[in-house]
Amino acid sequence: MGTWFEIRDLHVKIADTDREILKGLSLTINPGEIHAIMGPNGSGKSTLAYALMGHPGYEVTGGEVIFKGQNILEMEADERSRAGIFLAFQYPVAIPGVTVANFLRTAINARIKAEAAAKNGGVLPPDVRGVPIPVFTKQLREALQMLKVDQSFAGRYLNDGFSGGEKKRAEILQMAMLKPELAILDETDSGLDIDALRIVSEGVNTLHRSNPQMGVLVITHYQRLLNYIKPQFVHVLIDGRIVESGGPELALHLEEKGYDWLKEPELVD
Ligand code: ADP
Ligand code: MG
Repeated sequence: MGTWFEIRDLHVKIADTDREILKGLSLTINPGEIHAIMGPNGSGKSTLAYALMGHPGYEVTGGEVIFKGQNILEMEADERSRAGIFLAFQYPVAIPGVTVANFLRTAINARIKAEAAAKNGGVLPPDVRGVPIPVFTKQLREALQMLKVDQSFAGRYLNDGFSGGEKKRAEILQMAMLKPELAILDETDSGLDIDALRIVSEGVNTLHRSNPQMGVLVITHYQRLLNYIKPQFVHVLIDGRIVESGGPELALHLEEKGYDWLKEPELVD
C-alpha cells in the first residue's frame, strides 16, 4: 500500500517563463489528518494551490502528486474532483442569476452524470437523472444547519455582492455538499478578515467532526488561523521549499517569532 496523498519533489514554474517557484516540495497526508502550510508572502503558497488545481498559468516541471495511487497531475480538474479532492478557489467568481442552491445542485448533478458516464465507457446512459429535488433540498437544509448558515443564503445569487465572509461560507457549503475525501484550501493573503477566517476554520472543523476520515490541507499566510483551526501538522514554506515541519507548537512559535528565524538558514549556521 502506498501513501494516501503524497506530493513528491514538486517543481513548478510560471508558464512561459524560466521562473521556478516551487523547488522540490514534498508532503504526505494520511486520511483524517489536518495539515497547514504557512509561509510569508511570495513563498509559493498560491502557486502550490494553483498547480494542484491544474491552473494553466503554472507549469509542473518535475515531481508527482499521488492520490490513492493515481498521479492527479495527469487528470482534468473535474476528474480530480470526482476522485474525491476538493480544491477551494481563492477568488470565487460571481454568477448573477444563479442561486447558491442552483449552483450546488448543478455541481452535484454534473458529478453524478460524469461518474455514470465514466462507468459506461465515457457515454452517459440515457436513464441517468440528477439528484431528486426533495433529496437535494434535505441535504442542503442539513448542510446549512450544520454550518449555522441562514436558510435564506441558498436563495441568493452566487457570490453576487457577497462579502468576503459570505464567499467563504459559499465555499465551505460547497465542500459540505460535495463531501470530499481531501479538502485543499488556499486562503488569500489579503482581503480575508478575521471573521472570514473564523468561518472557514469553524466550517472545516465541523466537517471534519462529521467525517473524521477527511484529510485537510490549509494553505495560509495567517498565523492567526491556527487559533481557530487545529492542524496536527504545520509546515513552513519558504522560497519554494518546506523548511520546517512540526506539530501545533510550531504554529505558536511562528505566531510569536514570525518567519525570519527560518529564512536563509546558511546565515544562522
Ligand atoms: P504566496 O501565495 O506564497 O504569496 P505566490 O505563489 O502567489 O506566493 O507567488 C510566489 C512568487 O511567484 C512571487 O514572487 C510571485 O510574484 C510569483 N508569481 C506568482 N504567480 C505569478 C505569475 N502568474 N506571473 C509571474 N509571477 C508570478
Ligand atoms: Mg497566495
